[in-house]
Amino acid sequence: MWGNIMSDEKKPVRKKLKAAADVSRFMAEYYYELDAASKKGKPKIAWCSSVGPAEILRAMGFLVYFPETHSAMLGATRMATELIPEANALGYSPDICSYLTADIGAFLRGVTPLSKIYKGIESIPKPDVLVFNTNQCRDVQDWFSWYGQKFKAPVLGIYTHRNVGKVTEAHVASIAKQMEALIEPLEKVSGRPFQLDELKRVVALSRECSQLWKEVLETATVKPSPLTFFDGTTLMGPAVVGRGTQKAVDIYKTLLAELKDRIKKNEGALQDERFRLYWDGMPVWGRLRAHSELFSDLKANVLASTYCNSWIFSTLDENDPFDTMAKAYTELFIVRSDSEKETYFTNMLELFKVDGVIYHDAKTCPNNTNCRYGMPQRLEQKTGIPSLIINADLNDLRLISDEQTKTNVEAFIEQLEENQN
Ligand code: SF4
Repeated sequence: MWGNIMSDEKKPVRKKLKAAADVSRFMAEYYYELDAASKKGKPKIAWCSSVGPAEILRAMGFLVYFPETHSAMLGATRMATELIPEANALGYSPDICSYLTADIGAFLRGVTPLSKIYKGIESIPKPDVLVFNTNQCRDVQDWFSWYGQKFKAPVLGIYTHRNVGKVTEAHVASIAKQMEALIEPLEKVSGRPFQLDELKRVVALSRECSQLWKEVLETATVKPSPLTFFDGTTLMGPAVVGRGTQKAVDIYKTLLAELKDRIKKNEGALQDERFRLYWDGMPVWGRLRAHSELFSDLKANVLASTYCNSWIFSTLDENDPFDTMAKAYTELFIVRSDSEKETYFTNMLELFKVDGVIYHDAKTCPNNTNCRYGMPQRLEQKTGIPSLIINADLNDLRLISDEQTKTNVEAFIEQLEENQN
């Protein structure tokens, strides 16, 4: 089957984006700033879950650290797998979030990928406060509580409705109230009074960042797509850790200009994009490069995903910061009911003109896995677009069979090829 597509041709070239270097620089500066603050004890540091209330924390003068991004680095550097048992020994099951288990394992072992990547950084930044939102899962609550005890720092939480159909005013009001209730305890930690104008400024920047990130991702609607999902997983760094800052806005303006330039020149991210694929679920961090090559060698561009779209918060509005933050963080895909998710998928597959869907069944993250209750079958019936399930994990490489993945992906692309003929 390999020969059918590749025959005697050369392997397709995957082209690098120049703005990727800007993103790397942004991330380096971000971690050095946190490290300096951690060593000096100021500015204060707040830990935040990836879709937690970062705008509030930033507006109150905290530097914001996201443990999930650190855990993704543990995965990408393939450090995670051997660290997970450390957390298992404390009673955190190998079946729960391997971000949590790898991250706690790394702390117990006293290691971090930050010190491998950024010279002079020896450890993760110490939290003055930890703030989570259960909109994505309950695991963040357990994860942050563990560190709260370790560092003797307060842990604050927003408890979100899950499996939400239509987002109602009652949902928004209850979450907005919880967000407002964070202010007083955060003032105690930060030592400075909350200023509404500052929150409005940060929310406006966060909204601008979100809009630009959306436009970046939507450049992939063009044929050939100037972007791949695998590029997106690293390019999204500033949207996750830098939302609410001018620097993140500037980065995405540059990136968007480069992608538009590619479109003008009819230049795809793959030299020859024959199949357009959608990825649902978490990336397999320790196999990003291998998966990128696996697909591109088959002339298949995985160009859109639910995952990268998770940091689009279109509802944010500085004129009504609390209600719109509550709405934006509740209407996220991961928070929604299956029927809302199906509608979302249907729109995305059409928007990105997709030939096939890859579902990642991530063993330790049921929250970001959408193929366990018949969704792929229902969507195939509705859209006629075929799909493939890959059984793997975000961080635990013991749960992955590379051979099986390769065989299944090759067979899937062969099926797509037959459909095209
Ligand atoms: S959503 Fe999944 S990967 Fe992310 S913290 Fe929760 S369980 Fe872990």
